[in-house]
Amino acid sequence: MKFFSLNNNTPPVNFEKAVRMGLAPDRGLFFPETIKPLPDTFWDGFLQMSKEDIAFEVISQFIGDEIPELDLKQIIKETLCFDFPLVHLNDNVSTLELFQGPTMAFKDVGGRFMARCLGHFNKNNDEKVTVLVATSGDTGGAVASGFDGIQGIEVIILYPKGKVSAIQELQLTTQGKNITALEVEGTFDDCQEMVKTAFLDPSLKQYRNLTSANSINVARWLPQSFYYFFAVQDLMKKRTSVPYVFSVPSGNFGNICAGLVAHKMGLPIAHFIASTNNNDTFPRYMEAGVFSPKPSVQTISNAMDVGNPSNFERIQKLFNYDLFKLKTICSAYAFSDKETRSAMTEVYKDLNYITDPHGAVGYLGLKEYMKSHPGVQGVFLETAHPVKFLDIVEQTLKQKIEIPKQIQDIMDKKSTKKPVKSYEGLKAILVES
Ligand SMILES: *Cc1c(COP(=O)(O)O)cnc(C)c1O
Repeated sequence: MKFFSLNNNTPPVNFEKAVRMGLAPDRGLFFPETIKPLPDTFWDGFLQMSKEDIAFEVISQFIGDEIPELDLKQIIKETLCFDFPLVHLNDNVSTLELFQGPTMAFKDVGGRFMARCLGHFNKNNDEKVTVLVATSGDTGGAVASGFDGIQGIEVIILYPKGKVSAIQELQLTTQGKNITALEVEGTFDDCQEMVKTAFLDPSLKQYRNLTSANSINVARWLPQSFYYFFAVQDLMKKRTSVPYVFSVPSGNFGNICAGLVAHKMGLPIAHFIASTNNNDTFPRYMEAGVFSPKPSVQTISNAMDVGNPSNFERIQKLFNYDLFKLKTICSAYAFSDKETRSAMTEVYKDLNYITDPHGAVGYLGLKEYMKSHPGVQGVFLETAHPVKFLDIVEQTLKQKIEIPKQIQDIMDKKSTKKPVKSYEGLKAILVES
């Protein structure tokens, strides 16, 4: 499969190149040349298929023969090393728990898949690759864990000092081995700026082969379509009523965009809801038809504090830049922190379930849509385990929550990080080690 740049100023490249480059040289996002519906034979056997088989059929068309079948199956098996339970909260509302992986956020799926694809492409290559990534919290942990011990790849993570949660910081700084954590004196935007500067710095080329691992990378984006299939299979097996509607807590819009790809491949989801916090660029676009990004504002669902969602371009492309068409399949709503906190309380009291702030935003979006569409079967995605936002959850619910094993395991590990103040500091590290 070839991938082309949405800025149309780069010749199309194969999957491997797209993964290695991350962003196209013309700064455009890579997009597959075709997205083919899955054949009838797939749907005939769908209810009996294992998760690994589904994932293999779904991703194959994007990879072609670039990864041999057995290797790809192994990559998928290692990616899907945890469960994706669909928890029924009442007759027509369920939550899809995407947080059972090693770092307890949905980004584990993309992080693990991408790491293994790069590892595969590097197997017969002596050149070392450095993955450079800026994180506001969850991405860094998922990438660090995904690349743990992957041969020939060094990972350098930049995070803003004092602005990630305590547990997120532990996930970033206790991995060691091929993972280095840099604590940046500044904001997430400063971290991202330093990463961009490094990519554009020609003097680094003689020292490092740099690549990125954020959600613009096709190997992190596309595997996120897997769990929409798993959830629909579960709904079908349980013979729940149709139509199925999915609400996705959204920031950079990679996750929901992967759901829309699944829909394009024929997955029977009738409607998608993009649920955001006060960073409401997409809901405003859906309302007014004008895309006007704003600087991000800080909220309690901080992984969605994105003012200019990069995957917007891909969503546009999926619907041929036709807002009317997009609206037939997607709605969008934004919610304040106050609303988010009361939703957390409501879900806890009425449905006996603890959501993290991101999942609560997803719940709110679903609830809003169901006001005018009461007959649907609704699923909201729970994108992180509540323990990742321990303070907010415990404060809001006035309730202690149990620390799961994945988190307990890292609590007394030794944390190592290097302080960085400026791009020159980052450059010194990239050049010397
Ligand atoms: C990254 C993240 C999101 C936002 O996902 P996008 O794909 O960027 O829209 C939502 N919730 C959590 C917990 C996240 O870590």
